[in-house]
Amino acid sequence: MGKVMVIGAGGVGSVVVHKMASLPEVFTEILLASRTKSKCDAIAARIGKNRVQTAQIDADNVPDLKKLIKSCRPDIVVNVALPYQDLHIMDACLAEGVSYLDTANYEPLEEAKFEYSWQWAYRDRYDKAGITAILGCGFDPGVTSVYTAYAARHHFDEIHYLDIVDCNAGDHGKPFATNFNPEINIREVTQKGKYWENGKWIYTKPHEIHKPLNYPDIGPKESYLIYHEELESLVKNFPTIKRARFWMTFSQEYLTHLRVIQNIGMAGIEPVMFDGREIIPIQFLKAVLPDPGELGENYKGQTSIGCRIKGIKAGKEHTYYIYNNCSHEAAFRETGAQGVSYTTGVPAAIGAMMYLKGIWKKPGVFNVEEFDPDPFMEQLNLLGLPWHELHDLELEL
Ligand code: NDP
Repeated sequence: MGKVMVIGAGGVGSVVVHKMASLPEVFTEILLASRTKSKCDAIAARIGKNRVQTAQIDADNVPDLKKLIKSCRPDIVVNVALPYQDLHIMDACLAEGVSYLDTANYEPLEEAKFEYSWQWAYRDRYDKAGITAILGCGFDPGVTSVYTAYAARHHFDEIHYLDIVDCNAGDHGKPFATNFNPEINIREVTQKGKYWENGKWIYTKPHEIHKPLNYPDIGPKESYLIYHEELESLVKNFPTIKRARFWMTFSQEYLTHLRVIQNIGMAGIEPVMFDGREIIPIQFLKAVLPDPGELGENYKGQTSIGCRIKGIKAGKEHTYYIYNNCSHEAAFRETGAQGVSYTTGVPAAIGAMMYLKGIWKKPGVFNVEEFDPDPFMEQLNLLGLPWHELHDLELEL
């Protein structure tokens, strides 16, 4: 059906190409390109059967990337490198007239800040070029956004309250490790909290608001209100939402390590002089922390991510909880990666499939909730991330 170029050979990239390689009728040709070619080669060798071709690319070098896209001629480029590369990859895709998909919104290297404005600014140009950009197609953002669109279509006339709840009840056996790229992860979880209420953003101190929430098949876990990027597009695309919040579980052990890392300056993004040369503390920290892509082997337990929604249907108030639980061990058995990489990589592969099938294909730049949720939801059930619904229960929030 189509040819795809995947950029980024990390934990998520590995899952994306594993899934794509298992669907030869959809993904007829797959090129995996990343900064370190040996990582692409190792993933291609694990998959075998010559299903995945590989290439070296620095995606920040737009002229080189344009050349690679020109020679490969993919139908879509799937960006699972880092958020810093988003605009460079979008530029190269625009120049070559090729569609684009990612799982995390752009973040400038020199400032720990993420928002959609930079990528939404490409709308007219993508529209004129007749190509599609699909933004935020991992789990959160991604599946949580599609869950919300599905709820709005099938279960509510108006959504009023949305709480996205993200629990990782897994244990990787390390004293401290992050589940995806440490630099991006630490930048995300140490920033101020922020949520949407009655038409404006409310700011909180980092981790100021927290409460235990019960997760299906897991039980109660302390959950912390943090800002997450899908809130920005969801409140815009579903204007009946009065309050939208995002909650994530952290263990005391994780928070203690994080506090120490911050207190001693290791989360810093400003350069410091070390041994006669400049280094960025958080990049040095990444080099000594466990590689998230290698955590899978001993990871036990599961993740549980979902949306808890309150709103009205036919004039009556209803509640709704839709979620997926994903086992780290099952993810590792299937793809050699842990559950967080799995829950991100599978939706990215499904998003690319939606594009190749012509279902999520329209000129412009879109967040995933702006497409038809139903065919995507169907594939989640078929491809390893089944979802469950609970109606009219006490939401705790
Ligand atoms: P990793 O750090 O494991 O992998 C990133 C990969 O990108 C590495 O192989 C790296 O290469 C490569 N890369 C980095 N810079 C460049 C560049 N300039 N050119 C080419 N390749 C580059 O990260 P993850 O796999 O954990 O995460 C991938 C993405 O997924 C991130 O953007 C993350 O924010 C996002 N994510 C989204 C989630 C969601 O639910 N929406 C959840 C989790 C993650 P090298 O190894 O050579 O440095």
